[in-house]
Amino acid sequence: MGKKRIYEIAKELNISSQELLKELKELDIDVKSHASTLSEEEYELIKELYLGEKEKSKEKEKKESKDRLLPRPPVVTVMGHVDHGKTTLLDAIRKTNFVAQEYGEITQHIGAYQVELPQGKITFIDTPGHEAFTTLRARGAQVTDIVVLVIAADDGVQPQTVEAINHAKNAGTPIVVAINKIDKPNANPQKVKTQLMEYGLIPEEMGGDVLVSEISALKKIGIEDLLENILLQAELLELKADPNVPAKAVIIETRVSKGEGPCGTVIVKEGTLKAGQPFIAGLTWGKVRRMKNYKGETLKEAPPSTPVEVLGFESLPQAGDTLEVVKNEREAKKIAEERIRKTKRMQRSPTLSWELIKEKLEGKEVKEVPVIIKGDTQGSVEALRSSIEKLSNEEIKIKCIHEGVGNVNRSDVLLAYTARGIIIGFNVGKENEVESISRTYGVKINIYRLIYDAIQETEKFINSLKAPALEQVKIGEAEIRRVFQVPKWGKVAGCYVLSGKVKRGAECRIKRGEEVIFEGVLSSLKRFKDDVKEVSEGYECGIGFEDFTDFQEGDVIEVFEWRERPR
Ligand code: GDP
Repeated sequence: MGKKRIYEIAKELNISSQELLKELKELDIDVKSHASTLSEEEYELIKELYLGEKEKSKEKEKKESKDRLLPRPPVVTVMGHVDHGKTTLLDAIRKTNFVAQEYGEITQHIGAYQVELPQGKITFIDTPGHEAFTTLRARGAQVTDIVVLVIAADDGVQPQTVEAINHAKNAGTPIVVAINKIDKPNANPQKVKTQLMEYGLIPEEMGGDVLVSEISALKKIGIEDLLENILLQAELLELKADPNVPAKAVIIETRVSKGEGPCGTVIVKEGTLKAGQPFIAGLTWGKVRRMKNYKGETLKEAPPSTPVEVLGFESLPQAGDTLEVVKNEREAKKIAEERIRKTKRMQRSPTLSWELIKEKLEGKEVKEVPVIIKGDTQGSVEALRSSIEKLSNEEIKIKCIHEGVGNVNRSDVLLAYTARGIIIGFNVGKENEVESISRTYGVKINIYRLIYDAIQETEKFINSLKAPALEQVKIGEAEIRRVFQVPKWGKVAGCYVLSGKVKRGAECRIKRGEEVIFEGVLSSLKRFKDDVKEVSEGYECGIGFEDFTDFQEGDVIEVFEWRERPR
């Protein structure tokens, strides 16, 4: 290494030369000016001192930020089949909440509410169903910590129950089960538990880890037990957040209020959102003019997991956008404008799930392709699944993440998008708006009338995901006509290119008659004194090989290249 000057070293250490000079003086290293040089030892010393300190302070910072993490309430979404009692349950919970009782029942719908128990708080998202859950996820927002799966004890596991299970599984979100309607004479909670095992949800009493409560949302039986189970599950998750960093929150619902303009309900993810703070939210920005909780009370501060309705957006944000507090309004506006410009650019080149799938699989040893299968009967779904799963090979695994009877619906599309998968349908149609949202998200839906077609097409798709097969192709041949000694370089083969071309860095073989005497890399290539990348037929050149000099006049060099073999 040549000696470095002070200003160069300062730049390397990311400090000013002034600072560096001061530091050196303290170390009794005598330097005159910014252009002075340091000896090797001095340089190493200062580097170690400085970078060492920096590493230490980084470590300290990390530890401190860990110390600042405080427990936060869980955020819960209620899911399950239609009419199994999700809405009734959310209502019952709101009413059993003793704080709400203090205020009578003046609750406002803001998209989420919180209950307070002696053991802690729980935040409930007030829109039941996996649609909302997956819509938010499709937009990149992971808000839900725990899913409460409601199953009616008189009806058991139904298609949307299965959908909900698969959506939660795909998101990696733990499930707490509420077996509802146990007040009904034909309720059979035991049967529900057995059914759940088929889907890999093993209740605790059967040796598994899924917490199950038997409740009646209508008669308000078992609600406390369910809430306790939620808190128990939350404890296992060790949910934590730092209340002292700049706030980040997820927008879960929006509306335009007549008198007050655009409003958005947010759930704070980290930090504490405060009145008056400027923020950026998706493609819009604003300043917290007022925050209200579900009771309609104005809040000054909202710590992690608190749901609040925020007033003060410049324009309506979208559910799933993240709201982030920034330094000032000017910065907020600048970021929003930049994002709008970027989105405009992106809209011109929509990303297809094909590309997304490939991107996700890039470089993975075993490529797992998530597939959603919809069919007209249970039998056809099963037949299709088993044939499609059989297409898996060592490199590519087909994983059915959801299957069901019925038309392809919106939630299938969202699940496929978040999982970066595809949808295969058999003798089914598409529900309303599926066409348009699949286009928005770039999700591929293939519907077939013949199982044979479904299998063939899917196989084609899988093959297109395989790493390209490479083959070695001979690209040229050269003859060694003279061997000479070059100072510093050693022995060089003076060659004439007989056909094609020779390339530096290419793999090659040297043949003496029929015998192969060397296989390796063509490491240097010269035309006269210049290094060149390649030399074509009819020209002379000097060639050197990696770790090989035993060549002689008359030897023939064959040069190869790897090419993708067309499938
Ligand atoms: P959702 O579609 O899952 O939101 O279901 P709802 O909450 O709208 O409930 C559907 C029907 O089931 C309504 O008529 C409720 O009154 C009834 N229901 C909900 N929970 C219970 C319960 O615990 N017991 C009984 N008997 N009926 C219930």
